[in-house]
Amino acid sequence: MIEASKSPITPAIRWQKVTINKIQKRTPTVTSFFFTPSVLFSFRAGQHVEVRLTAPDGYRAQRAYSIASAPENSGSLELAIEKLETGEVSPFFHEAAQVGDEIELRGPIGGHFIWQGSDSGPILLAGAGSGVAPLMSMIRHHANTRSDVPMLLLLSARSWEDVIFRDELLALDEKKGAFKLVLTITREMPKREGDYGRRIDTPMLVEILKRLPSPLKRTYVCGSNPFVTVASEALVGAAVEPGSIRTERYGQ
Ligand SMILES: Cc1cc2nc3c(=O)[nH]c(=O)nc-3n(C[C@H](O)[C@H](O)[C@H](O)COP(=O)(O)OP(=O)(O)OC[C@H]3O[C@@H](n4cnc5c(N)ncnc54)[C@H](O)[C@@H]3O)c2cc1C
Repeated sequence: MIEASKSPITPAIRWQKVTINKIQKRTPTVTSFFFTPSVLFSFRAGQHVEVRLTAPDGYRAQRAYSIASAPENSGSLELAIEKLETGEVSPFFHEAAQVGDEIELRGPIGGHFIWQGSDSGPILLAGAGSGVAPLMSMIRHHANTRSDVPMLLLLSARSWEDVIFRDELLALDEKKGAFKLVLTITREMPKREGDYGRRIDTPMLVEILKRLPSPLKRTYVCGSNPFVTVASEALVGAAVEPGSIRTERYGQ
């Protein structure tokens, strides 16, 4: 059985005020917000936090966001937030939030969708859109710890412009070390040799698995609900052991 993420909320995890210390546009629809926690906490790559906004009339909205920064960087947490036009919380960040603003946050949350430097590999990461956020934390942790665990990210995006963390990922791939990047661009022709120009499917995964040593230890899949379903089915079709697949779903 594919292991879906669970989000146990430990009562001990308290809300704290955090200040936005930097805002960085990543793509036309995704912006990163960097926060300085007032109470520092350590986390593991793949975990998320909850963010709470309170309106002047007391109305509250709360959402989960994966931590995209590396565990080594716990003094400045990065959340990569995609703007959903009809949403409630993500438009607030994109349209109203400013450096110096305070919001409430609690975490870290999640003990299932995590990768630690001491974990063995090979590891396949599959993400789409802002679903790359927790995978980016794993990739940065992998780079910071100079891990030699083979790790491949298959990242799906609509266009070259929509590839979140593109320059950083390309630079890591160009080192030709233990990390490899494969992009699949669904609404444009691919720009790089070895990348794809369609949605993730089983034949693509069969080819990609040949770029990693065998046997595959674990796969992490993250993105919208439909993406996670399709990618997980394609992985099983490519003979990946269902019990080795961990998933994190954004949205209903
Ligand atoms: C564990 C976890 C980690 C998450 N990490 C991130 C992250 O790193 N970055 C990020 O941008 N989002 C992330 N999300 C999604 C996030 O929590 C919100 O759901 C998202 O920002 C939408 O909130 P909203 O208030 O703007 O929209 P809402 O008002 O909540 O929703 C508007 C509509 O969009 C749908 N929807 C919600 N999320 C998505 C989505 N991702 N794609 C398509 N439709 C959606 C909803 O079902 C609803 O119909 C994560 C979710 C979970 C559960």
